[in-house]
Order: sequence, then structure tokens, then C-alpha cells
Amino acid sequence: MYIMGTILRHGSDAQKKMYLPKIATGELRLQAFGVTEPSSGTDTTALRTFARREGDKYIVNGQKIWTSRAEHSDLMLLLARTTPRDQVAKRTEGLSTFIVDMRQAKGHGLTIRPIRTMMNHNTTEVFFDNMEVPAENLIGQEGRGFRYILDGMNAERLLISAESVGDAKWFVEKAVAYSKERVLFGRPIGQNQGVQFPIAKAYAQMRAAEALLHKGLEKFGAGLPCGEEANMGKMLCADAAWAAAEACIQTYGGFGFAEEYDIERKYREARLYQVAPISTNMILSYIGEHVLGMPRSY
Ligand SMILES: Cc1cc2nc3c(=O)[nH]c(=O)nc-3n(C[C@H](O)[C@H](O)[C@H](O)COP(=O)(O)OP(=O)(O)OC[C@H]3O[C@@H](n4cnc5c(N)ncnc54)[C@H](O)[C@@H]3O)c2cc1C
Repeated sequence: MYIMGTILRHGSDAQKKMYLPKIATGELRLQAFGVTEPSSGTDTTALRTFARREGDKYIVNGQKIWTSRAEHSDLMLLLARTTPRDQVAKRTEGLSTFIVDMRQAKGHGLTIRPIRTMMNHNTTEVFFDNMEVPAENLIGQEGRGFRYILDGMNAERLLISAESVGDAKWFVEKAVAYSKERVLFGRPIGQNQGVQFPIAKAYAQMRAAEALLHKGLEKFGAGLPCGEEANMGKMLCADAAWAAAEACIQTYGGFGFAEEYDIERKYREARLYQVAPISTNMILSYIGEHVLGMPRSY
């Protein structure tokens, strides 16, 4: 969803006509987001993947990591450097965004290697070895790709926030139901305030985070700047999901660790959003520097 949005907002008419209807009908399957690299990580503008213009195409060399869904995607939104970092005034300049047709590129300079993780999330390493991308697949202007990617990142943060709210609701519902069923010392465990309060607190956290998410969605939908809401919403929604996960696994006691109840699986999945798609530290740094105007730390 956040990937086709970049084409919708910044793509040419020809690109919109070529991709969007097919994405809408499902003829074009998933899309991957090629931003993170092993050596640059969160420091996105230090990425090394380079796209060199040669006539009517670009030749791409480099590597991405944590590229989710790559094995099952028809398209990838790729961020690559097109002007070396030492030749641009600002590190955010000289980066460009491309649509890569992965069906054509696989075996022709594009290699995908799956990464096994602690949760059920299809993610990969992607290698580019002289991969050719037609020049017409450049989105917007060369060198301005970082700006286009930021839009997509806000969309992704809103999307993940919504997922985290869903996770929090699931954990709270499970915990409440179990706390009413499980009877010990002659009464349901949910009658003990020690069991009730963490669940109630996680619920309150979730409701507050959900309200901020809706504010972010309203602004994003209206095309207004929404970095503040998208970032804070992502942190608070992920925190609410994690608080609910903790309350739920504690309420289930030993059974929370048994695979058949799904609590341990969801618990592992909820932990991811403290780190991806942006870690809590980087959000706090965004709030400190961009919202509150404190000195830049990096
Ligand atoms: C399952 C999964 C799926 C993913 N899917 C995608 C995808 O589809 N596409 C994609 O492009 N990326 C994807 N990512 C990458 C994800 O966005 C990054 O993992 C995340 O942004 C963190 O970057 P990093 O792993 O390189 O950590 P690093 O950048 O190495 O950071 C490590 C730790 O140091 C902290 N840190 C770093 N710098 C500072 C600082 N200045 N101040 C304070 N703390 C700091 C960070 O907060 C973090 O906790 C995925 C990751 C995972 C795990």
C-alpha cells in the first residue's frame, strides 16, 4: 500500500497508467521496499547501492537487507544513489527512486536470499550485480528520491500503527476472556486486581494511541504534512501492543508459552515493531529535533 502510493503521488502519468490499474486488479502482485542496507542501517543517506546512467538505462550495483516480501513481489521500489555523496551539498540529495520489475530482473543481475527470523515474516537480502533498470522507471526527478521515499515511510508508519492497534486489541481480548475462564483459589483470576490492572492499562494505552493514529490518517489522507503524527503514532501504537502482549502472556501463565494458544507467536511478532520499520530511538530523536527544535544529535 505504501509503495504504490509513491507512484500515485510522484510517478509520471505513463507510470501511473502502466502500474496502478494492474496493482488494483491484483494482476501485479506484492511490491517490495528496497531501502535498508547492511552497512547503513538507520543512517539511510549513507546507503551505497549505486545506479549509474548509461544511455536509456541505469546500471545498478549494491545490496539491500531486510527487504520484506521480495521473493513474492513483482515490483520493488528501490532507493539508490545516483550522485556520489561527496559530490552533493546535502546528504539527502543525489538519491533516486526507481520501480524495478523484479520478474524481469530475477536472474539478470538480481539475486534474492531469504533470512530466517524469530517470527513468521518473509524477509530477504537482495543483491544487485549490474542489474539494468530502464531510465523510464525513474520516479520523479533524479537526485530527489529521498523526499519521495519519506512520504512512503510515513504511510508505512501509519500502516504499522494500525497493525499494532489490531495486535493490542487481540491481546486484550484474549487476556480478558482467559482471565474470566481460569479459576484458581475458588475465583476467576481476573477478579484479582493484580491481573486486571495491566490489561486495563494496556487497553487505555491502545485507545490513546489509536486516537493519534486516526489524526495521522486524516492528515495523510488530506495530503497534509503528518510526520509528527506518523512517528509518534507508530511509537505509541507499538508500545501499546507490547504492553498488551506482556499483560496477555502474564495472564495466561504457563499456557502463554504453549504454541497451541498462539500467544507466544503473536508476542514475538509484536516485539518487531519496537525496531522496524523505524526504531523507538529514532522516533524520539525525530520528536526532539524536528518537533521540539532541540539540537541535532547526528
Ligand atoms: C523483519 C524486518 C522486516 C523489514 N522490512 C524492511 C523492508 O521491507 N524494507 C526495508 O528497507 N527495510 C526493512 N527493514 C529494516 C528496518 O527498517 C530496520 O531494521 C530498522 O530501521 C532498524 O535499522 P537497523 O536494523 O539497521 O538497525 P541500526 O540502524 O543498526 O540500529 C541499531 C540500534 O541502534 C540504535 N541507534 C542507531 N543510531 C542511533 C542514534 N543516532 N541514536 C540513538 N539510537 C541509535 C537504533 O535505534 C537501533 O536500536 C526490516 C527489518 C526487519 C527486522
